[in-house]
Amino acid sequence: MRILLAEDDPHLGDGLGVGLRQAGHTVDWVRDGEAADLALKTEDFDLLVLDLGLPRLTGMEVLRRLRRRSQTLPVLILTARDATDDKVQGLDAGADDYLVKPIDIDELAARARALARRSAGHASPLLRLGDLEIDPAARLARLNGEPVELSGREFSLLLTLAEHAGRAQTRAQLEAALYGWQDEPESNAIEVHVHHLRRKLGTERIRTLRGIGYLMPKP
Ligand code: CA
Repeated sequence: MRILLAEDDPHLGDGLGVGLRQAGHTVDWVRDGEAADLALKTEDFDLLVLDLGLPRLTGMEVLRRLRRRSQTLPVLILTARDATDDKVQGLDAGADDYLVKPIDIDELAARARALARRSAGHASPLLRLGDLEIDPAARLARLNGEPVELSGREFSLLLTLAEHAGRAQTRAQLEAALYGWQDEPESNAIEVHVHHLRRKLGTERIRTLRGIGYLMPKP
């Protein structure tokens, strides 16, 4: 999933970025509240990890603006130890969960998965689409119970399509989900990954919508 990380502490931001990327996510990192607000207005993310103590615009204000725009993406706030008021205010302002610093990266990754599941409308940690089963935590796909060998990007693409099953995803949305701001993908990267996924999972699994993008049909 594509995560916007808003954290001004360079060491913490770097560590969280590395940890979340290792967990298979695409991470875009901003270091102040104005940049976070701008990114949220102009790009699509699946999760916002938000430090409340940000320069230029506080995390709380970023959160309030986000919810005033009726944007529903899940928000996980990072608060200082013992800042009970922050937690309560943050949750009241529309945050979905919080973590207290120092942050444990495994816990952050697990909570990120749980929030993504809930926002996609399914409480189970496994995604099932007919004979296809996807385990986001283990980053594993099974077809008829047999593990399917997928590259990291192929798995991310499959997961993104599966989480939005029945809804079209544009190529731009898929590129953003897989690459974020950091890597510039080859112009046909998504087509190539789709080709590989069809070969491994069956051609009917992913439909091409000419001029629009791709869609994974609901079984
Ligand atoms: Ca801070």
